[in-house]
Amino acid sequence: MNKLADRTARISGSPTMKVTATVDRMRREGIDVIDFGAGEPDFATPDPVKAAAHTALDENFTRYTPSAGIIELKRAIAERYKQDYGVEYKDNEIIVTAGGKQALYNTAMVLFGPGDEVITHAPYWPTLTEQIKLADATPVLARTYAEEGFAIRAKTILDAVTPRTKGIIVNSPCNPTGALISEAEMTAIADEAGRRNIWLVVDLCYERLIYDPVPHNLPAVLGRRWRDLTILCGSSSKAYAMTGWRCGWQVGPAEVIAASNALQSHSTSNVTSISQKAAMVALTASQAPVKAMLDEYRTRRDALHSWLTADPRLRCLKPAGAFYMFVDVSAVLSVDGLRTSSEFVDALLSDARVAVTPGEAFDAPGFIRISYATSMDNLREGSRRLLEFVKIRAPKLAAAG
Ligand code: PMP
Repeated sequence: MNKLADRTARISGSPTMKVTATVDRMRREGIDVIDFGAGEPDFATPDPVKAAAHTALDENFTRYTPSAGIIELKRAIAERYKQDYGVEYKDNEIIVTAGGKQALYNTAMVLFGPGDEVITHAPYWPTLTEQIKLADATPVLARTYAEEGFAIRAKTILDAVTPRTKGIIVNSPCNPTGALISEAEMTAIADEAGRRNIWLVVDLCYERLIYDPVPHNLPAVLGRRWRDLTILCGSSSKAYAMTGWRCGWQVGPAEVIAASNALQSHSTSNVTSISQKAAMVALTASQAPVKAMLDEYRTRRDALHSWLTADPRLRCLKPAGAFYMFVDVSAVLSVDGLRTSSEFVDALLSDARVAVTPGEAFDAPGFIRISYATSMDNLREGSRRLLEFVKIRAPKLAAAG
């Protein structure tokens, strides 16, 4: 075959989507699989949002819109950020994107290039580093540690800064760890980055899924002094159970948004017109559905945590945000048994028919990610199978543990 472009050799497909594909195949073969792989809410999109989409269709709102999105939606995003964070953004500082993913992609493409280093924290959502590579830049990793609740520390991030550092990407709440960055650590990062003219990118896709009322006003922390260097990437996907609608946003300096719009206008153009009308209602209508879903995730998180920790070798903390439990399974791995978390995950799927994502996907071998965006019944049965699997596959250690 003829040669593909070099950039295709630098990136790999989404490992989380691979889990979904395997589960689909097994289910088609009639196998009863419990899926803890999903990176998306299991709830239905709230009714008023769906109604807005019906209306948009009935009113034939089905043509191109401006590629940066309809003005009413931009204003709804601005109003949401004003209410939630007390920050104000103008129309030319906001672009509507195909999910948070495109907001981050635009950001990488317009800010980073060959020779640039971009720092992010590990374990990480793989798209963040793949996008840096797609921009011909180099990802640089700052580790976070399970023993510290995967806290994102300014010191480790700033220790990785070199004269080539062009940007720092923070994901809070973090997928896969569920950790939040504290306002103090974010301030320390921003102050140093600001002095050195380093872009600050924040992936806020899980911003509405934070369980306790801890201060997490990153837009205000960054906007206070470093607004000209700050890009916020958000999404309707997780907060409003709208993953399939593909609607997110990128908020930042007008020049960055104008460049993103130019890029977007020559690639995907506007987000689906109907989705834009729906997202507008999601942002402006009662936010009660967000709270109801969060309450349900909290109940599931607590139940899952108590079930899993019945085996002390499955070490995990209750995540502060998002809907993933990141479990350290290294205590049940051994040279003559399951050697890696990846082997653990494959065997768990074939023997116990439970799908989870291996830590390797997030640069965290020894861990597995369990998504609790699934029913309580699934969580109960899946945990039972998981504990049983561990008992059978690592019996000696079980006795010791
Ligand atoms: N950021 C993180 C950390 C994510 O986990 C995801 C989705 N898995 C996204 C961004 C993007 O989601 P979407 O494009 O659906 O908004």
